[in-house]
Amino acid sequence: MNGTHNPLRNQILEVLEFPRQLVRAELAPKQCPHDIQYDVADPVCLHCLDGPECQWLYATDEVASLSSRSLDELAQALEFAILSVAAQLAHGVHPESKCLCSSCAWLQQADQLHKQAIQSNPDPQL
Ligand SMILES: [Zn+2]
Repeated sequence: MNGTHNPLRNQILEVLEFPRQLVRAELAPKQCPHDIQYDVADPVCLHCLDGPECQWLYATDEVASLSSRSLDELAQALEFAILSVAAQLAHGVHPESKCLCSSCAWLQQADQLHKQAIQSNPDPQL
């Protein structure tokens, strides 16, 4: 699994940057003993309400620094990102398909990429 420079993978990594910044900005002001680095061994993390976001942030930090993740794993990370951005949007006023804010624009782009990733994956682990 070396040197697979699939343009779709790179696009997904790029598009994951936006929700990572969102999650980081959301978690940063909170008192985290681990500096927003999810620790599976710490019960504090296991019972933390921000656990899923934090875990995801941590996982995508790894993804960003290496190219050995499968497209399937990237698609899963992207799916989580789409769900959490969509959940954040639900709190505000975002007229469907007319909103031009960066979150809505991102969501459309991410949705497209996610579909492509699912379709181009010959062996989805579902
Ligand atoms: Zn919007």
